[in-house]
Amino acid sequence: MTVTFSFEFFPPRTQKGARGLWEAIRRVEALRPDFVSVTYGAGGSSRDRTVALTRRIAAETTLRPVAHLTAVGHSVAELRRIIGAYADAGIRDVLVLRGDPPGDPNGPWTPHPGGFTYARELVELVRSLGEFTIGVAAFPERHPRSPDWESDVRHFVAKCRAGADYAITQMFFHVEDYLRLRDRVAAAGCDIPIIPEIMPATDAGQIRRFAELSHAAFPEDLAHRLERARGNPAEGHRIGVEYATAMAERLLAEGAPGLHYITLNKSTAALDIHRDVMASRSLSVR
Ligand code: FAD
Repeated sequence: MTVTFSFEFFPPRTQKGARGLWEAIRRVEALRPDFVSVTYGAGGSSRDRTVALTRRIAAETTLRPVAHLTAVGHSVAELRRIIGAYADAGIRDVLVLRGDPPGDPNGPWTPHPGGFTYARELVELVRSLGEFTIGVAAFPERHPRSPDWESDVRHFVAKCRAGADYAITQMFFHVEDYLRLRDRVAAAGCDIPIIPEIMPATDAGQIRRFAELSHAAFPEDLAHRLERARGNPAEGHRIGVEYATAMAERLLAEGAPGLHYITLNKSTAALDIHRDVMASRSLSVR
């Protein structure tokens, strides 16, 4: 079975950040991944940076960029304009998201008066605007706002039926959570590929913050090992790469259709995991 592999970047705020990002992009480019994705900010200038970075990747690299897009704070007319700008730049891949309230991601969700309430509506809009490949978000531990699994899966399947071609998951640290979600979605009659997102957990403090934001359950044993490695980045890196590699290998053995690596614009840990996964599958790293 052919599996895809892909990498996620975010638009940097500073010149130094941009230099680091481009070093990471060039290293990733050499591996010829299936695609790279660029996250969409909560508001303001970071959004323009997403559009600019995605367009630059399309223009200056051999990579296939996937533009994340959220409904937060946008009217339908604005969303149409952004999608049109991507199409003009030859970008035909969009990861369609509802987004979270700016400021407090766990606060009450208020749609833009001329905008959308759910990602499904934005999927329908993108689908109506032309030939796009559309990705959506999936949540192995269920979306934090979903009251139960039944409604979570029902709304996810509705979003897929509206026109999604594939999904990428939220970060997670227990393979069983991914398998349960996949089986629930399949049992509901939906068979789009659900690509697991791989987060290299190399620094306990940083990962705890991410896990709190994403509501992902962080394994205590991994947390303790990383805590013990505090002050020793090489050891933290080794622990995180080893854990994520084992997870990724098991996911592929269980039939996951690909791996989407979070890079945090650095690529080192993601590339080490990818190299080890490929080696264990006896595939040559290109
Ligand atoms: P939706 O699919 O709209 O779901 C949101 C909630 O509404 C769920 O609980 C769902 O069950 C419920 N729901 C859906 N339809 C209905 C309905 N008809 N009636 C009642 N309830 C309903 N955020 C960013 O800001 N920028 C990014 O770049 C970004 N990238 C991401 C990438 C990935 C891979 C993932 C997994 C998440 C990303 N996010 C990003 C975060 C995402 O925007 C949030 O998690 C958001 O809360 C959910 O988005 P969604 O697209 O899943 O929303």
